[in-house]
Amino acid sequence: MRDWKRVGLVVTTLAMATALGSALAPAARSQSNVAAATRWYRGNTHTHTLASDGNAPALDVARWYKTHGYDFVVITDHEVVTDVDPLNAQLAEPDKFLVLRGQEITQKVLDPSAQDGRRQAHVVAIGITNPILPLGEKGIATGTTMAAVYDRNVGAVRAAGGLAQINHPNFRWSVREADLLNVPDSSLYEVWNGHPWVNNLGGRDEAGRVAPSAEALWDSLLTRGKVLLGVATDDAHEYQPAAFEDPLATHPGRAWIMVRAATLSASALMASIRSGDFYASTGVMLDDYQASRAKIQLRIAPPHRPEDVRRYHTRFIGRGGRVLADVYGRTATYEMKGNEGYVRATITDSNGLQAWTQPVFVK
Ligand SMILES: [Zn+2]
Ligand SMILES: [Zn+2]
Repeated sequence: MRDWKRVGLVVTTLAMATALGSALAPAARSQSNVAAATRWYRGNTHTHTLASDGNAPALDVARWYKTHGYDFVVITDHEVVTDVDPLNAQLAEPDKFLVLRGQEITQKVLDPSAQDGRRQAHVVAIGITNPILPLGEKGIATGTTMAAVYDRNVGAVRAAGGLAQINHPNFRWSVREADLLNVPDSSLYEVWNGHPWVNNLGGRDEAGRVAPSAEALWDSLLTRGKVLLGVATDDAHEYQPAAFEDPLATHPGRAWIMVRAATLSASALMASIRSGDFYASTGVMLDDYQASRAKIQLRIAPPHRPEDVRRYHTRFIGRGGRVLADVYGRTATYEMKGNEGYVRATITDSNGLQAWTQPVFVK
Protein backbone atom coordinates (compact mmCIF):
# COMPACT_ATOMS: atom_id res chain seq x y z
CA MET A 1 0.00 0.00 0.00
CA ARG A 2 3.08 2.20 0.10
CA ASP A 3 2.61 3.11 -3.54
CA TRP A 4 -0.58 4.93 -2.60
CA LYS A 5 1.56 7.78 -1.42
CA ARG A 6 2.30 10.02 -4.28
CA VAL A 7 5.02 12.56 -3.96
CA GLY A 8 4.23 15.73 -5.80
CA LEU A 9 5.01 19.37 -6.23
CA VAL A 10 1.76 21.12 -5.55
CA VAL A 11 0.59 24.55 -4.65
CA THR A 12 -0.22 23.68 -1.08
CA THR A 13 -2.05 26.82 -0.17
CA LEU A 14 -4.33 26.48 -3.17
CA ALA A 15 -5.69 23.30 -1.67
CA MET A 16 -5.79 24.88 1.74
CA ALA A 17 -8.08 27.54 0.33
CA THR A 18 -10.64 24.88 -0.54
CA ALA A 19 -12.51 23.89 2.52
CA LEU A 20 -12.54 26.98 4.60
CA GLY A 21 -12.88 29.54 1.86
CA SER A 22 -13.43 32.86 3.48
CA ALA A 23 -12.15 31.64 6.83
CA LEU A 24 -8.65 31.46 5.38
CA ALA A 25 -6.21 34.10 6.58
CA PRO A 26 -5.16 36.66 3.94
CA ALA A 27 -1.51 35.87 4.69
CA ALA A 28 -2.03 32.30 3.59
CA ARG A 29 -3.75 33.43 0.43
CA SER A 30 -0.94 35.75 -0.53
CA GLN A 31 1.49 32.85 -0.49
CA SER A 32 -0.51 30.87 -2.98
CA ASN A 33 2.19 31.13 -5.61
CA VAL A 34 4.74 29.45 -3.40
CA ALA A 35 5.07 25.83 -4.40
CA ALA A 36 6.05 23.46 -1.61
CA ALA A 37 6.93 19.80 -1.82
CA THR A 38 4.18 17.90 -0.10
CA ARG A 39 3.00 14.32 -0.03
CA TRP A 40 0.07 12.34 1.19
CA TYR A 41 0.15 10.70 4.61
CA ARG A 42 -2.29 7.95 5.47
CA GLY A 43 -3.64 7.88 9.01
CA ASN A 44 -6.40 6.79 11.34
CA THR A 45 -7.70 9.26 13.93
CA HIS A 46 -9.89 7.00 16.12
CA THR A 47 -8.29 3.98 17.82
CA HIS A 48 -8.72 2.17 21.15
CA THR A 49 -6.21 0.10 23.12
CA LEU A 50 -6.05 -1.82 26.40
CA ALA A 51 -5.86 1.56 28.14
CA SER A 52 -9.65 1.63 27.65
CA ASP A 53 -11.78 -0.97 25.87
CA GLY A 54 -9.45 -2.05 23.08
CA ASN A 55 -8.08 -5.60 23.34
CA ALA A 56 -4.38 -5.02 22.60
CA PRO A 57 -1.63 -2.97 24.23
CA ALA A 58 -0.99 0.44 22.65
CA LEU A 59 2.39 -0.69 21.33
CA ASP A 60 0.82 -3.60 19.44
CA VAL A 61 -1.93 -1.36 18.12
CA ALA A 62 0.53 1.25 16.84
CA ARG A 63 2.67 -1.52 15.34
CA TRP A 64 -0.37 -2.91 13.51
CA TYR A 65 -0.86 0.45 11.80
CA LYS A 66 2.82 0.85 11.01
CA THR A 67 3.00 -2.57 9.37
CA HIS A 68 -0.22 -2.13 7.38
CA GLY A 69 0.61 0.86 5.22
CA TYR A 70 -0.22 3.72 7.58
CA ASP A 71 1.99 6.74 8.25
CA PHE A 72 0.30 7.83 11.45
CA VAL A 73 -2.27 6.81 14.01
CA VAL A 74 -3.96 8.76 16.78
CA ILE A 75 -4.56 6.72 19.94
CA THR A 76 -7.94 7.81 21.30
CA ASP A 77 -8.80 5.81 24.41
CA HIS A 78 -11.95 6.64 26.34
CA GLU A 79 -11.21 9.27 29.01
CA VAL A 80 -7.44 8.56 28.85
CA VAL A 81 -4.64 10.30 26.95
CA THR A 82 -2.31 7.38 26.35
CA ASP A 83 1.38 8.33 26.55
CA VAL A 84 2.70 7.97 23.02
CA ASP A 85 6.35 8.78 23.79
CA PRO A 86 7.29 5.15 24.53
CA LEU A 87 5.47 4.08 21.37
CA ASN A 88 7.28 6.62 19.23
CA ALA A 89 10.60 5.67 20.86
CA GLN A 90 10.13 2.19 19.42
CA LEU A 91 8.17 2.79 16.23
CA ALA A 92 8.52 6.36 14.96
CA GLU A 93 10.67 6.91 11.87
CA PRO A 94 11.23 10.25 10.15
CA ASP A 95 8.68 10.72 7.36
CA LYS A 96 7.57 7.08 7.77
CA PHE A 97 5.56 6.65 10.93
CA LEU A 98 4.31 8.66 13.89
CA VAL A 99 1.89 8.11 16.77
CA LEU A 100 -0.20 11.09 17.92
CA ARG A 101 -1.86 11.68 21.27
CA GLY A 102 -5.60 11.76 21.55
CA GLN A 103 -8.65 10.81 23.57
CA GLU A 104 -12.32 10.00 23.09
CA ILE A 105 -14.58 12.05 25.36
CA THR A 106 -17.38 9.55 25.92
CA GLN A 107 -20.12 12.01 26.70
CA LYS A 108 -23.70 10.86 27.13
CA VAL A 109 -26.80 12.94 27.80
CA LEU A 110 -29.79 11.76 29.79
CA ASP A 111 -32.85 11.78 27.52
CA PRO A 112 -35.91 9.76 28.53
CA SER A 113 -37.21 9.93 24.97
CA ALA A 114 -34.17 8.04 23.66
CA GLN A 115 -34.33 4.28 23.20
CA ASP A 116 -32.04 3.51 26.14
CA GLY A 117 -32.70 6.70 28.09
CA ARG A 118 -29.59 8.48 26.95
CA ARG A 119 -27.97 9.85 23.83
CA GLN A 120 -24.33 9.58 22.84
CA ALA A 121 -22.27 12.70 22.10
CA HIS A 122 -18.77 11.25 21.78
CA VAL A 123 -16.00 13.59 20.64
CA VAL A 124 -12.46 12.57 19.76
CA ALA A 125 -9.74 15.05 20.72
CA ILE A 126 -6.61 14.92 18.55
CA GLY A 127 -3.34 16.31 19.86
CA ILE A 128 -4.27 17.12 23.45
CA THR A 129 -2.06 16.41 26.46
CA ASN A 130 -4.42 16.12 29.42
CA PRO A 131 -7.67 14.17 29.42
CA ILE A 132 -10.94 16.07 29.14
CA LEU A 133 -13.53 14.31 31.27
CA PRO A 134 -17.15 14.23 30.17
CA LEU A 135 -19.80 15.98 32.24
CA GLY A 136 -21.94 14.07 34.70
CA GLU A 137 -21.63 10.95 36.79
CA LYS A 138 -20.31 8.09 34.62
CA GLY A 139 -20.20 10.58 31.75
CA ILE A 140 -23.99 10.96 31.71
CA ALA A 141 -24.88 14.65 31.72
CA THR A 142 -28.30 15.56 33.12
CA GLY A 143 -30.44 18.66 32.78
CA THR A 144 -28.67 19.75 29.63
CA THR A 145 -28.81 19.27 25.88
CA MET A 146 -26.73 17.56 23.22
CA ALA A 147 -25.91 20.97 21.72
CA ALA A 148 -24.69 22.26 25.10
CA VAL A 149 -22.40 19.30 25.78
CA TYR A 150 -20.92 19.48 22.27
CA ASP A 151 -20.33 23.19 22.91
CA ARG A 152 -18.54 22.44 26.15
CA ASN A 153 -16.47 19.47 24.94
CA VAL A 154 -15.50 20.79 21.51
CA GLY A 155 -14.63 24.11 23.18
CA ALA A 156 -12.44 22.31 25.71
CA VAL A 157 -10.61 20.41 22.95
CA ARG A 158 -9.93 23.60 21.03
CA ALA A 159 -8.83 25.47 24.16
CA ALA A 160 -6.32 22.67 24.75
CA GLY A 161 -4.91 23.17 21.23
CA GLY A 162 -6.51 20.00 19.87
CA LEU A 163 -8.69 19.11 16.92
CA ALA A 164 -12.24 18.04 17.76
CA GLN A 165 -13.86 15.20 15.83
CA ILE A 166 -17.60 14.52 16.10
CA ASN A 167 -18.00 10.73 16.28
CA HIS A 168 -20.48 8.28 14.75
CA PRO A 169 -23.67 10.42 14.71
CA ASN A 170 -25.95 7.41 14.24
CA PHE A 171 -24.49 5.32 17.08
CA ARG A 172 -27.62 4.41 19.04
CA TRP A 173 -29.43 6.90 16.77
CA SER A 174 -28.18 9.73 18.93
CA VAL A 175 -27.28 12.84 16.96
CA ARG A 176 -29.61 15.20 15.09
CA GLU A 177 -28.97 18.28 13.01
CA ALA A 178 -29.89 20.75 15.79
CA ASP A 179 -27.29 19.16 18.10
CA LEU A 180 -24.40 20.25 15.87
CA LEU A 181 -25.42 23.71 14.70
CA ASN A 182 -23.21 25.43 17.30
CA VAL A 183 -20.12 23.34 16.63
CA PRO A 184 -17.30 25.67 15.50
CA ASP A 185 -16.28 25.66 11.84
CA SER A 186 -13.38 23.41 10.81
CA SER A 187 -14.34 20.76 13.36
CA LEU A 188 -14.07 17.20 12.05
CA TYR A 189 -17.09 15.01 11.44
CA GLU A 190 -17.12 11.23 10.95
CA VAL A 191 -18.86 10.81 7.61
CA TRP A 192 -17.79 7.17 7.89
CA ASN A 193 -16.87 5.27 11.08
CA GLY A 194 -15.58 1.73 10.52
CA HIS A 195 -17.12 0.31 13.70
CA PRO A 196 -19.72 -2.15 12.42
CA TRP A 197 -22.64 -1.07 14.64
CA VAL A 198 -22.73 2.68 14.12
CA ASN A 199 -25.37 2.88 11.38
CA ASN A 200 -23.43 5.06 8.94
CA LEU A 201 -26.15 4.63 6.32
CA GLY A 202 -29.01 5.77 8.56
CA GLY A 203 -32.34 4.01 8.68
CA ARG A 204 -36.05 3.97 9.38
CA ASP A 205 -37.59 1.96 12.21
CA GLU A 206 -40.93 0.16 12.51
CA ALA A 207 -42.54 3.27 13.98
CA GLY A 208 -41.44 5.31 10.96
CA ARG A 209 -38.69 7.24 12.74
CA VAL A 210 -36.05 8.19 10.20
CA ALA A 211 -32.41 9.02 10.74
CA PRO A 212 -30.45 10.26 7.72
CA SER A 213 -27.12 8.72 6.80
CA ALA A 214 -24.06 10.36 8.36
CA GLU A 215 -23.30 11.71 4.90
CA ALA A 216 -26.79 13.19 4.45
CA LEU A 217 -26.59 14.78 7.91
CA TRP A 218 -23.23 16.28 6.88
CA ASP A 219 -24.93 17.82 3.81
CA SER A 220 -27.73 19.22 6.00
CA LEU A 221 -25.15 20.88 8.22
CA LEU A 222 -23.09 22.18 5.29
CA THR A 223 -26.30 23.56 3.79
CA ARG A 224 -26.86 25.47 7.02
CA GLY A 225 -23.38 26.97 6.57
CA LYS A 226 -21.58 24.75 9.08
CA VAL A 227 -18.07 24.10 7.77
CA LEU A 228 -17.48 20.56 9.03
CA LEU A 229 -14.67 18.49 7.55
CA GLY A 230 -15.44 14.88 6.73
CA VAL A 231 -13.23 12.13 8.14
CA ALA A 232 -13.37 8.34 7.88
CA THR A 233 -12.04 6.40 10.86
CA ASP A 234 -11.61 2.86 12.17
CA ASP A 235 -12.83 3.26 15.78
CA ALA A 236 -10.94 -0.03 16.16
CA HIS A 237 -11.10 -2.13 19.34
CA GLU A 238 -10.16 -5.71 18.32
CA TYR A 239 -6.79 -6.65 16.90
CA GLN A 240 -6.47 -10.43 17.21
CA PRO A 241 -6.51 -12.43 13.95
CA ALA A 242 -10.00 -13.85 14.70
CA ALA A 243 -11.44 -10.32 14.58
CA PHE A 244 -10.57 -10.09 10.90
CA GLU A 245 -12.77 -13.10 10.18
CA ASP A 246 -15.81 -11.62 11.94
CA PRO A 247 -17.78 -8.97 10.03
CA LEU A 248 -19.24 -7.68 13.31
CA ALA A 249 -15.85 -7.29 15.00
CA THR A 250 -14.30 -3.87 15.44
CA HIS A 251 -11.00 -4.52 13.69
CA PRO A 252 -8.68 -1.87 12.18
CA GLY A 253 -8.01 -1.09 8.52
CA ARG A 254 -11.49 -0.13 7.39
CA ALA A 255 -11.43 3.65 7.03
CA TRP A 256 -8.83 6.41 7.11
CA ILE A 257 -7.83 9.87 5.96
CA MET A 258 -5.15 10.98 3.50
CA VAL A 259 -3.51 14.20 4.61
CA ARG A 260 -1.39 16.41 2.36
CA ALA A 261 1.50 17.85 4.32
CA ALA A 262 5.11 18.91 3.87
CA THR A 263 6.38 16.69 6.64
CA LEU A 264 5.23 13.96 9.03
CA SER A 265 4.93 15.82 12.32
CA ALA A 266 2.00 16.31 14.66
CA SER A 267 1.96 20.04 13.99
CA ALA A 268 2.14 19.71 10.19
CA LEU A 269 -0.56 17.02 10.09
CA MET A 270 -2.84 18.96 12.40
CA ALA A 271 -2.37 22.17 10.42
CA SER A 272 -3.26 20.39 7.17
CA ILE A 273 -6.27 18.68 8.72
CA ARG A 274 -7.47 21.94 10.28
CA SER A 275 -7.24 23.66 6.89
CA GLY A 276 -9.15 20.88 5.13
CA ASP A 277 -6.23 19.62 3.05
CA PHE A 278 -7.17 15.97 3.28
CA TYR A 279 -9.77 13.48 2.12
CA ALA A 280 -11.49 10.51 3.73
CA SER A 281 -11.44 6.99 2.31
CA THR A 282 -12.60 3.43 2.75
CA GLY A 283 -10.49 2.28 -0.18
CA VAL A 284 -10.75 4.70 -3.11
CA MET A 285 -7.42 6.51 -3.36
CA LEU A 286 -6.57 9.65 -5.30
CA ASP A 287 -3.45 10.19 -7.40
CA ASP A 288 -4.18 13.88 -7.48
CA TYR A 289 -6.65 16.28 -5.97
CA GLN A 290 -6.76 20.02 -6.56
CA ALA A 291 -9.47 22.38 -5.52
CA SER A 292 -10.08 26.09 -5.63
CA ARG A 293 -13.18 28.23 -5.57
CA ALA A 294 -13.24 27.96 -9.37
CA LYS A 295 -12.77 24.23 -9.88
CA ILE A 296 -12.32 20.79 -8.31
CA GLN A 297 -10.17 18.29 -10.17
CA LEU A 298 -9.31 14.79 -9.12
CA ARG A 299 -7.66 11.69 -10.53
CA ILE A 300 -8.38 8.31 -8.97
CA ALA A 301 -5.50 5.87 -8.45
CA PRO A 302 -5.78 2.75 -10.62
CA PRO A 303 -6.43 -0.70 -9.12
CA HIS A 304 -3.33 -2.71 -8.24
CA ARG A 305 -4.00 -5.76 -10.40
CA PRO A 306 -4.72 -5.95 -14.13
CA GLU A 307 -7.67 -8.30 -13.58
CA ASP A 308 -9.28 -5.73 -11.28
CA VAL A 309 -11.44 -3.71 -13.66
CA ARG A 310 -13.56 -1.82 -11.15
CA ARG A 311 -15.42 1.30 -12.26
CA TYR A 312 -15.68 4.67 -10.54
CA HIS A 313 -18.55 7.08 -10.07
CA THR A 314 -17.83 10.59 -8.79
CA ARG A 315 -20.78 12.61 -7.59
CA PHE A 316 -20.25 16.33 -7.11
CA ILE A 317 -22.66 17.41 -4.42
CA GLY A 318 -23.89 20.85 -3.40
CA ARG A 319 -26.41 22.65 -1.22
CA GLY A 320 -29.20 20.44 0.05
CA GLY A 321 -27.21 17.32 -0.84
CA ARG A 322 -28.14 17.88 -4.47
CA VAL A 323 -26.07 15.98 -7.03
CA LEU A 324 -24.58 18.65 -9.29
CA ALA A 325 -22.81 16.28 -11.65
CA ASP A 326 -22.21 12.56 -12.15
CA VAL A 327 -18.82 11.72 -13.61
CA TYR A 328 -17.64 8.23 -14.53
CA GLY A 329 -14.06 7.04 -14.93
CA ARG A 330 -10.78 7.82 -13.19
CA THR A 331 -10.70 11.58 -13.72
CA ALA A 332 -13.33 14.07 -12.68
CA THR A 333 -13.55 17.85 -12.91
CA TYR A 334 -16.22 20.24 -11.74
CA GLU A 335 -16.22 23.94 -12.56
CA MET A 336 -18.12 26.10 -10.13
CA LYS A 337 -21.06 28.08 -11.43
CA GLY A 338 -21.38 30.22 -8.32
CA ASN A 339 -24.80 29.19 -7.08
CA GLU A 340 -23.97 25.79 -5.54
CA GLY A 341 -23.49 27.00 -1.96
CA TYR A 342 -20.72 24.46 -1.56
CA VAL A 343 -19.28 21.69 -3.69
CA ARG A 344 -17.77 18.42 -2.52
CA ALA A 345 -17.14 15.05 -4.15
CA THR A 346 -18.08 11.52 -3.12
CA ILE A 347 -16.44 8.80 -5.18
CA THR A 348 -17.84 5.27 -5.10
CA ASP A 349 -16.37 2.31 -6.93
CA SER A 350 -18.22 -0.69 -8.30
CA ASN A 351 -17.28 -2.72 -5.20
CA GLY A 352 -18.59 -0.21 -2.69
CA LEU A 353 -15.33 1.45 -1.68
CA GLN A 354 -15.53 5.22 -1.31
CA ALA A 355 -13.72 8.50 -0.84
CA TRP A 356 -15.03 11.88 0.26
CA THR A 357 -13.34 15.23 -0.43
CA GLN A 358 -13.90 18.35 1.63
CA PRO A 359 -16.50 20.98 0.83
CA VAL A 360 -15.43 24.05 -1.09
CA PHE A 361 -17.68 26.94 -0.22
CA VAL A 362 -18.74 28.95 -3.22
CA LYS A 363 -20.17 32.43 -2.65
ZN1 LIG B 1 -17.57 6.47 20.51
ZN1 LIG C 1 -14.35 5.06 19.83
